[in-house]
Amino acid sequence: MKTFETLDVVIVGAGAAGIGCGVVLRDLGITNYVILERDRVGASFLNWPAEMCFITPSFPSHGFGLLDLNAITLKSSPALMVQREHLTGKEYAFYLQTIAEHFQLPIRTEIEVKNLKSLPQERGFIITTSEGEIQSRFVIWAAGEFQYPNRNPFPGAQLCLHNSQVQSWKQLEGDEFYIIGGYESGIDAAINLSLLGKKVRVIDRASKWLSTDPDPSISLSPYTLQRLEFLYKTGRIELIHDVAVEEVKRVKKGYAIQSKSDRWISPTVPILGTGFTGSLGLIADLFDFSNGYALLTDKDESTISPGLFLVGSQVRHGNVIFCFIYKFRQRFAVVANAIAQRLAINTSVLEAYRQAGLFLEDLSCCENDCVC
Ligand SMILES: Cc1cc2nc3c(=O)[nH]c(=O)nc-3n(C[C@H](O)[C@H](O)[C@H](O)COP(=O)(O)OP(=O)(O)OC[C@H]3O[C@@H](n4cnc5c(N)ncnc54)[C@H](O)[C@@H]3O)c2cc1C
Repeated sequence: MKTFETLDVVIVGAGAAGIGCGVVLRDLGITNYVILERDRVGASFLNWPAEMCFITPSFPSHGFGLLDLNAITLKSSPALMVQREHLTGKEYAFYLQTIAEHFQLPIRTEIEVKNLKSLPQERGFIITTSEGEIQSRFVIWAAGEFQYPNRNPFPGAQLCLHNSQVQSWKQLEGDEFYIIGGYESGIDAAINLSLLGKKVRVIDRASKWLSTDPDPSISLSPYTLQRLEFLYKTGRIELIHDVAVEEVKRVKKGYAIQSKSDRWISPTVPILGTGFTGSLGLIADLFDFSNGYALLTDKDESTISPGLFLVGSQVRHGNVIFCFIYKFRQRFAVVANAIAQRLAINTSVLEAYRQAGLFLEDLSCCENDCVC
Protein backbone atom coordinates (compact mmCIF):
# COMPACT_ATOMS: atom_id res chain seq x y z
CA MET A 1 0.00 0.00 0.00
CA LYS A 2 1.50 3.40 -0.99
CA THR A 3 1.00 6.83 0.57
CA PHE A 4 -1.10 8.61 -2.04
CA GLU A 5 -2.17 11.89 -0.52
CA THR A 6 -0.84 14.53 1.88
CA LEU A 7 -3.28 16.65 3.86
CA ASP A 8 -3.23 19.18 6.70
CA VAL A 9 -6.04 17.60 8.70
CA VAL A 10 -7.94 14.30 8.67
CA ILE A 11 -11.09 13.97 10.79
CA VAL A 12 -12.06 10.35 11.51
CA GLY A 13 -15.84 9.92 11.81
CA ALA A 14 -18.83 11.89 10.49
CA GLY A 15 -21.01 11.90 13.59
CA ALA A 16 -21.96 14.90 15.70
CA ALA A 17 -18.32 15.53 16.67
CA GLY A 18 -16.72 15.04 13.24
CA ILE A 19 -19.31 17.18 11.44
CA GLY A 20 -19.23 19.92 14.11
CA CYS A 21 -15.43 20.09 13.98
CA GLY A 22 -15.47 20.04 10.18
CA VAL A 23 -17.68 23.15 10.14
CA VAL A 24 -15.25 25.06 12.38
CA LEU A 25 -12.30 24.16 10.11
CA ARG A 26 -14.33 25.36 7.11
CA ASP A 27 -15.19 28.63 8.90
CA LEU A 28 -11.46 29.13 9.53
CA GLY A 29 -10.79 28.79 5.80
CA ILE A 30 -8.88 25.51 6.11
CA THR A 31 -9.40 23.61 2.86
CA ASN A 32 -6.78 20.87 2.79
CA TYR A 33 -8.71 18.43 4.97
CA VAL A 34 -11.12 15.50 4.72
CA ILE A 35 -13.60 13.71 6.95
CA LEU A 36 -13.33 9.92 6.64
CA GLU A 37 -16.46 7.96 7.50
CA ARG A 38 -16.74 4.19 7.33
CA ASP A 39 -20.49 4.24 6.76
CA ARG A 40 -22.77 7.28 6.23
CA VAL A 41 -23.06 10.70 7.87
CA GLY A 42 -24.72 10.18 11.28
CA ALA A 43 -24.37 6.38 11.05
CA SER A 44 -24.45 5.83 14.81
CA PHE A 45 -27.70 7.76 15.14
CA LEU A 46 -29.20 5.83 12.22
CA ASN A 47 -28.41 2.64 14.15
CA TRP A 48 -30.26 3.65 17.31
CA PRO A 49 -33.31 1.48 18.07
CA ALA A 50 -36.22 3.10 16.19
CA GLU A 51 -38.00 4.12 19.42
CA MET A 52 -34.93 5.64 21.13
CA CYS A 53 -35.03 9.43 21.43
CA PHE A 54 -32.63 12.10 22.60
CA ILE A 55 -32.79 12.60 26.34
CA THR A 56 -31.44 16.15 26.01
CA PRO A 57 -34.32 18.34 24.76
CA SER A 58 -34.10 20.51 21.66
CA PHE A 59 -35.59 24.01 21.57
CA PRO A 60 -35.10 26.82 19.02
CA SER A 61 -33.67 29.24 21.59
CA HIS A 62 -30.73 30.51 19.50
CA GLY A 63 -32.51 33.76 18.61
CA PHE A 64 -31.99 34.87 22.23
CA GLY A 65 -28.38 33.73 22.39
CA LEU A 66 -29.03 30.28 23.87
CA LEU A 67 -28.15 27.57 21.40
CA ASP A 68 -30.42 24.51 21.04
CA LEU A 69 -28.80 21.92 23.36
CA ASN A 70 -28.25 19.51 20.48
CA ALA A 71 -27.05 21.98 17.83
CA ILE A 72 -23.46 21.51 16.67
CA THR A 73 -23.02 24.78 14.77
CA LEU A 74 -23.80 28.44 15.21
CA LYS A 75 -27.29 29.39 13.98
CA SER A 76 -28.80 25.94 13.64
CA SER A 77 -31.46 24.11 15.63
CA PRO A 78 -32.48 20.45 15.35
CA ALA A 79 -35.78 21.41 17.05
CA LEU A 80 -36.57 23.89 14.30
CA MET A 81 -35.47 21.54 11.54
CA VAL A 82 -37.60 18.55 12.50
CA GLN A 83 -40.17 20.21 14.80
CA ARG A 84 -39.45 17.85 17.70
CA GLU A 85 -38.23 18.31 21.26
CA HIS A 86 -36.81 14.80 21.73
CA LEU A 87 -35.48 13.69 18.36
CA THR A 88 -35.12 10.08 17.25
CA GLY A 89 -31.72 8.92 15.96
CA LYS A 90 -32.98 9.09 12.36
CA GLU A 91 -34.19 12.67 12.82
CA TYR A 92 -30.87 13.75 14.27
CA ALA A 93 -28.94 12.01 11.45
CA PHE A 94 -31.08 14.05 9.02
CA TYR A 95 -30.01 17.22 10.87
CA LEU A 96 -26.33 16.20 10.57
CA GLN A 97 -26.69 15.36 6.86
CA THR A 98 -28.34 18.74 6.23
CA ILE A 99 -25.48 20.55 8.01
CA ALA A 100 -22.90 18.55 6.02
CA GLU A 101 -24.58 19.48 2.72
CA HIS A 102 -25.10 23.14 3.64
CA PHE A 103 -21.43 23.63 4.50
CA GLN A 104 -20.29 21.36 1.63
CA LEU A 105 -17.99 19.46 3.94
CA PRO A 106 -15.32 17.29 2.27
CA ILE A 107 -16.68 13.96 3.49
CA ARG A 108 -15.59 10.62 2.07
CA THR A 109 -18.01 7.89 3.08
CA GLU A 110 -17.50 4.13 3.15
CA ILE A 111 -13.82 4.54 4.03
CA GLU A 112 -12.77 2.86 7.24
CA VAL A 113 -9.72 3.96 9.19
CA LYS A 114 -7.88 0.81 10.25
CA ASN A 115 -4.73 2.19 11.83
CA LEU A 116 -2.88 5.34 12.71
CA LYS A 117 0.89 5.64 12.94
CA SER A 118 2.68 8.64 14.36
CA LEU A 119 5.70 9.82 12.32
CA PRO A 120 8.92 10.86 14.12
CA GLN A 121 9.74 14.52 14.83
CA GLU A 122 6.10 15.58 14.82
CA ARG A 123 5.86 15.15 11.05
CA GLY A 124 2.26 13.96 11.35
CA PHE A 125 0.57 10.63 10.85
CA ILE A 126 0.14 7.83 8.36
CA ILE A 127 -3.51 6.83 8.30
CA THR A 128 -4.19 3.35 6.97
CA THR A 129 -7.68 3.14 5.51
CA SER A 130 -9.71 0.54 3.63
CA GLU A 131 -8.77 2.47 0.44
CA GLY A 132 -5.06 3.06 0.99
CA GLU A 133 -2.86 5.39 3.03
CA ILE A 134 -3.01 9.11 3.71
CA GLN A 135 -0.38 11.29 5.33
CA SER A 136 -1.70 14.12 7.46
CA ARG A 137 -0.08 16.67 9.71
CA PHE A 138 -2.99 16.61 12.17
CA VAL A 139 -5.63 14.00 12.99
CA ILE A 140 -8.89 14.71 14.80
CA TRP A 141 -10.29 11.46 16.20
CA ALA A 142 -14.12 11.64 16.18
CA ALA A 143 -14.97 7.94 15.84
CA GLY A 144 -17.19 7.91 18.93
CA GLU A 145 -18.34 5.03 21.11
CA PHE A 146 -21.70 3.76 19.94
CA GLN A 147 -20.29 1.42 17.31
CA TYR A 148 -17.94 -0.17 19.84
CA PRO A 149 -20.28 -1.84 22.38
CA ASN A 150 -19.02 -3.57 25.52
CA ARG A 151 -19.96 -7.13 24.62
CA ASN A 152 -17.87 -9.00 27.23
CA PRO A 153 -18.59 -7.51 30.66
CA PHE A 154 -18.89 -11.03 32.24
CA PRO A 155 -18.70 -14.68 31.13
CA GLY A 156 -21.60 -15.65 28.89
CA ALA A 157 -22.35 -12.06 27.85
CA GLN A 158 -21.91 -13.09 24.22
CA LEU A 159 -25.17 -15.07 24.61
CA CYS A 160 -27.00 -11.80 25.30
CA LEU A 161 -28.25 -9.06 22.95
CA HIS A 162 -26.53 -5.68 23.29
CA ASN A 163 -29.08 -2.87 23.12
CA SER A 164 -27.13 -1.26 20.23
CA GLN A 165 -27.95 -4.36 18.12
CA VAL A 166 -31.71 -3.79 18.41
CA GLN A 167 -33.33 -2.09 15.42
CA SER A 168 -36.77 -1.84 17.01
CA TRP A 169 -38.07 -3.15 20.33
CA LYS A 170 -41.17 -4.30 18.43
CA GLN A 171 -39.08 -7.02 16.75
CA LEU A 172 -38.34 -8.89 20.00
CA GLU A 173 -40.61 -11.87 20.63
CA GLY A 174 -41.71 -12.84 24.16
CA ASP A 175 -43.48 -11.25 27.12
CA GLU A 176 -40.81 -11.22 29.80
CA PHE A 177 -37.36 -9.65 29.56
CA TYR A 178 -34.26 -9.21 31.70
CA ILE A 179 -32.05 -6.20 31.15
CA ILE A 180 -28.54 -6.13 32.61
CA GLY A 181 -27.39 -2.55 33.21
CA GLY A 182 -29.63 0.28 34.38
CA TYR A 183 -28.17 3.49 33.02
CA GLU A 184 -29.67 5.42 30.07
CA SER A 185 -29.61 2.57 27.47
CA GLY A 186 -30.89 -0.08 29.88
CA ILE A 187 -33.69 2.06 31.27
CA ASP A 188 -34.63 3.23 27.75
CA ALA A 189 -34.94 -0.44 26.76
CA ALA A 190 -37.09 -1.13 29.85
CA ILE A 191 -39.35 1.84 29.09
CA ASN A 192 -39.86 0.87 25.45
CA LEU A 193 -40.51 -2.82 26.22
CA SER A 194 -42.91 -1.87 28.99
CA LEU A 195 -44.77 0.47 26.62
CA LEU A 196 -45.31 -2.61 24.44
CA GLY A 197 -46.94 -4.35 27.43
CA LYS A 198 -43.92 -6.55 28.29
CA LYS A 199 -42.79 -7.36 31.81
CA VAL A 200 -39.20 -6.24 32.45
CA ARG A 201 -36.62 -6.75 35.21
CA VAL A 202 -33.59 -4.45 35.24
CA ILE A 203 -30.55 -5.64 37.19
CA ASP A 204 -27.80 -3.12 37.98
CA ARG A 205 -24.67 -3.43 40.10
CA ALA A 206 -25.31 0.09 41.45
CA SER A 207 -28.58 2.05 41.49
CA LYS A 208 -28.42 4.83 38.90
CA TRP A 209 -32.18 5.45 39.31
CA LEU A 210 -31.62 6.47 42.96
CA SER A 211 -28.61 8.70 42.27
CA THR A 212 -29.05 12.40 43.01
CA ASP A 213 -25.74 13.43 41.44
CA PRO A 214 -26.37 16.75 39.62
CA ASP A 215 -24.23 15.66 36.64
CA PRO A 216 -26.40 13.90 34.00
CA SER A 217 -23.25 12.09 32.86
CA ILE A 218 -23.48 10.18 36.14
CA SER A 219 -27.18 10.00 37.09
CA LEU A 220 -30.30 9.41 34.98
CA SER A 221 -31.64 12.41 33.07
CA PRO A 222 -34.93 14.04 34.16
CA TYR A 223 -36.53 12.89 30.87
CA THR A 224 -35.69 9.24 31.63
CA LEU A 225 -36.71 9.49 35.30
CA GLN A 226 -40.04 11.05 34.35
CA ARG A 227 -40.86 8.24 31.89
CA LEU A 228 -39.60 5.58 34.29
CA GLU A 229 -41.75 6.89 37.14
CA PHE A 230 -44.86 6.79 34.92
CA LEU A 231 -44.29 3.21 33.72
CA TYR A 232 -43.09 1.89 37.09
CA LYS A 233 -46.63 2.49 38.35
CA THR A 234 -47.98 -0.05 35.85
CA GLY A 235 -46.09 -2.78 37.76
CA ARG A 236 -44.46 -3.99 34.56
CA ILE A 237 -40.97 -2.77 35.50
CA GLU A 238 -38.98 -4.21 38.40
CA LEU A 239 -35.68 -2.59 39.39
CA ILE A 240 -33.07 -4.73 41.13
CA HIS A 241 -30.14 -2.70 42.40
CA ASP A 242 -26.73 -3.36 43.98
CA VAL A 243 -26.52 -6.76 42.29
CA ALA A 244 -23.64 -7.58 39.95
CA VAL A 245 -24.38 -10.22 37.32
CA GLU A 246 -21.46 -12.65 37.23
CA GLU A 247 -22.46 -15.03 34.48
CA VAL A 248 -25.14 -15.91 31.92
CA LYS A 249 -25.62 -19.53 30.82
CA ARG A 250 -27.91 -21.25 28.34
CA VAL A 251 -30.32 -23.59 30.19
CA LYS A 252 -33.32 -25.71 29.19
CA LYS A 253 -35.91 -23.02 29.95
CA GLY A 254 -33.93 -20.12 28.51
CA TYR A 255 -31.01 -18.27 30.08
CA ALA A 256 -29.74 -18.46 33.67
CA ILE A 257 -28.57 -15.10 35.01
CA GLN A 258 -26.29 -15.61 37.98
CA SER A 259 -25.12 -13.14 40.62
CA LYS A 260 -23.19 -13.98 43.81
CA SER A 261 -26.34 -14.88 45.72
CA ASP A 262 -29.24 -14.96 43.22
CA ARG A 263 -30.23 -16.74 40.05
CA TRP A 264 -32.95 -15.80 37.59
CA ILE A 265 -34.20 -17.74 34.56
CA SER A 266 -35.04 -15.54 31.60
CA PRO A 267 -37.27 -17.11 28.93
CA THR A 268 -35.93 -14.58 26.39
CA VAL A 269 -32.42 -13.56 25.44
CA PRO A 270 -31.10 -11.17 28.15
CA ILE A 271 -30.48 -7.61 26.97
CA LEU A 272 -27.22 -5.84 27.71
CA GLY A 273 -27.26 -2.18 28.64
CA THR A 274 -23.65 -2.43 29.75
CA GLY A 275 -22.32 0.47 27.74
CA PHE A 276 -19.56 0.96 25.22
CA THR A 277 -15.81 0.42 25.15
CA GLY A 278 -15.24 3.27 22.66
CA SER A 279 -13.19 3.57 19.48
CA LEU A 280 -9.91 4.49 21.16
CA GLY A 281 -8.95 0.81 21.50
CA LEU A 282 -8.00 1.02 17.79
CA ILE A 283 -5.29 3.59 18.52
CA ALA A 284 -4.62 2.83 22.19
CA ASP A 285 -0.83 3.17 21.81
CA LEU A 286 -1.21 6.84 20.85
CA PHE A 287 -2.73 7.93 24.19
CA ASP A 288 -1.71 7.67 27.83
CA PHE A 289 -4.49 5.81 29.69
CA SER A 290 -2.79 5.78 33.10
CA ASN A 291 -5.86 7.38 34.76
CA GLY A 292 -8.28 4.98 33.06
CA TYR A 293 -9.21 7.42 30.28
CA ALA A 294 -7.28 9.14 27.47
CA LEU A 295 -5.13 11.87 28.97
CA LEU A 296 -5.37 15.13 27.01
CA THR A 297 -3.67 18.51 27.07
CA ASP A 298 -5.74 21.65 27.61
CA LYS A 299 -6.20 21.67 23.80
CA ASP A 300 -7.64 18.10 23.79
CA GLU A 301 -4.46 16.80 22.17
CA SER A 302 -2.93 13.46 23.15
CA THR A 303 -0.28 14.00 25.82
CA ILE A 304 2.03 11.53 24.07
CA SER A 305 1.22 12.00 20.34
CA PRO A 306 1.40 15.71 19.39
CA GLY A 307 -0.92 16.51 16.48
CA LEU A 308 -3.55 13.92 17.46
CA PHE A 309 -6.72 15.50 18.88
CA LEU A 310 -9.79 13.88 20.42
CA VAL A 311 -13.31 15.28 20.03
CA GLY A 312 -16.69 13.91 21.08
CA SER A 313 -18.11 11.88 23.89
CA GLN A 314 -14.81 10.29 24.97
CA VAL A 315 -13.25 13.62 25.97
CA ARG A 316 -12.61 13.83 29.68
CA HIS A 317 -10.58 16.10 31.95
CA GLY A 318 -10.58 14.67 35.48
CA ASN A 319 -14.16 14.80 36.75
CA VAL A 320 -15.33 16.89 33.79
CA ILE A 321 -16.97 14.36 31.46
CA PHE A 322 -18.00 15.57 27.99
CA CYS A 323 -20.35 12.72 27.03
CA PHE A 324 -23.26 14.88 25.78
CA ILE A 325 -23.34 17.02 22.66
CA TYR A 326 -24.06 20.23 24.60
CA LYS A 327 -20.83 19.57 26.49
CA PHE A 328 -18.41 18.31 23.85
CA ARG A 329 -19.45 20.81 21.13
CA GLN A 330 -17.82 23.54 23.25
CA ARG A 331 -14.40 22.00 22.57
CA PHE A 332 -14.52 21.92 18.73
CA ALA A 333 -13.26 25.52 18.52
CA VAL A 334 -10.50 24.82 21.08
CA VAL A 335 -9.12 22.04 18.83
CA ALA A 336 -9.62 24.02 15.60
CA ASN A 337 -7.93 27.06 17.16
CA ALA A 338 -4.85 25.01 18.16
CA ILE A 339 -4.55 23.59 14.63
CA ALA A 340 -5.14 26.96 12.92
CA GLN A 341 -2.45 28.63 15.02
CA ARG A 342 0.10 25.98 14.01
CA LEU A 343 -0.91 26.44 10.36
CA ALA A 344 -0.50 30.24 10.82
CA ILE A 345 -4.16 30.89 9.94
CA ASN A 346 -6.04 33.92 11.28
CA THR A 347 -8.47 32.77 14.00
CA SER A 348 -10.58 35.91 14.44
CA VAL A 349 -13.73 34.13 13.13
CA LEU A 350 -13.69 32.10 16.33
CA GLU A 351 -14.82 35.17 18.29
CA ALA A 352 -18.41 34.38 17.21
CA TYR A 353 -17.98 30.88 18.68
CA ARG A 354 -16.77 32.35 21.95
CA GLN A 355 -19.78 34.66 22.14
CA ALA A 356 -22.19 31.79 21.46
CA GLY A 357 -20.71 29.62 24.23
CA LEU A 358 -19.03 27.32 21.72
CA PHE A 359 -15.42 28.00 22.70
CA LEU A 360 -14.86 26.71 26.21
CA GLU A 361 -11.27 27.04 27.39
CA ASP A 362 -11.66 27.50 31.12
CA LEU A 363 -12.92 24.23 32.58
CA SER A 364 -13.13 25.61 36.11
CA CYS A 365 -16.67 26.79 35.20
CA CYS A 366 -17.83 23.20 34.61
CA GLU A 367 -18.86 22.48 38.17
CA ASN A 368 -22.16 20.73 38.67
CA ASP A 369 -23.00 22.65 41.85
CA CYS A 370 -26.69 23.41 42.08
CA VAL A 371 -28.18 25.63 44.78
CA CYS A 372 -31.63 24.03 44.77
C1 LIG B 1 -29.05 5.50 25.15
C2 LIG B 1 -28.27 6.69 24.67
C3 LIG B 1 -28.87 7.93 24.69
C4 LIG B 1 -28.15 9.05 24.33
N1 LIG B 1 -28.76 10.26 24.37
C5 LIG B 1 -28.06 11.36 24.13
C6 LIG B 1 -28.68 12.64 24.25
O1 LIG B 1 -29.86 12.75 24.53
N2 LIG B 1 -27.92 13.73 24.02
C7 LIG B 1 -26.60 13.64 23.70
O2 LIG B 1 -25.96 14.67 23.56
N3 LIG B 1 -26.01 12.45 23.55
C8 LIG B 1 -26.71 11.31 23.78
N4 LIG B 1 -26.10 10.09 23.67
C9 LIG B 1 -24.70 10.03 23.34
C10 LIG B 1 -24.54 10.17 21.84
O3 LIG B 1 -24.64 8.90 21.27
C11 LIG B 1 -23.23 10.81 21.61
O4 LIG B 1 -23.31 12.12 22.13
C12 LIG B 1 -22.87 10.95 20.14
O5 LIG B 1 -23.14 9.78 19.40
C13 LIG B 1 -21.42 11.21 20.06
O6 LIG B 1 -21.13 11.67 18.78
P1 LIG B 1 -19.76 11.30 18.11
O7 LIG B 1 -19.67 12.08 16.86
O8 LIG B 1 -18.66 11.42 19.11
O9 LIG B 1 -19.88 9.73 17.80
P2 LIG B 1 -20.77 8.98 16.72
O10 LIG B 1 -22.07 9.65 16.56
O11 LIG B 1 -20.75 7.54 17.14
O12 LIG B 1 -19.96 9.17 15.37
C14 LIG B 1 -18.79 8.44 15.11
C15 LIG B 1 -18.71 8.21 13.62
O13 LIG B 1 -17.45 7.64 13.34
C16 LIG B 1 -17.59 6.60 12.40
N5 LIG B 1 -16.49 5.67 12.63
C17 LIG B 1 -16.28 4.90 13.72
N6 LIG B 1 -15.14 4.22 13.61
C18 LIG B 1 -14.59 4.58 12.41
C19 LIG B 1 -13.42 4.21 11.72
N7 LIG B 1 -12.55 3.34 12.24
N8 LIG B 1 -13.18 4.75 10.50
C20 LIG B 1 -14.04 5.66 9.96
N9 LIG B 1 -15.19 6.02 10.58
C21 LIG B 1 -15.45 5.51 11.80
C22 LIG B 1 -18.94 6.00 12.69
O14 LIG B 1 -19.49 5.33 11.57
C23 LIG B 1 -19.75 7.23 13.11
O15 LIG B 1 -20.44 7.80 12.02
C24 LIG B 1 -26.80 8.94 23.95
C25 LIG B 1 -26.20 7.67 23.86
C26 LIG B 1 -26.93 6.56 24.21
C27 LIG B 1 -26.29 5.22 24.12
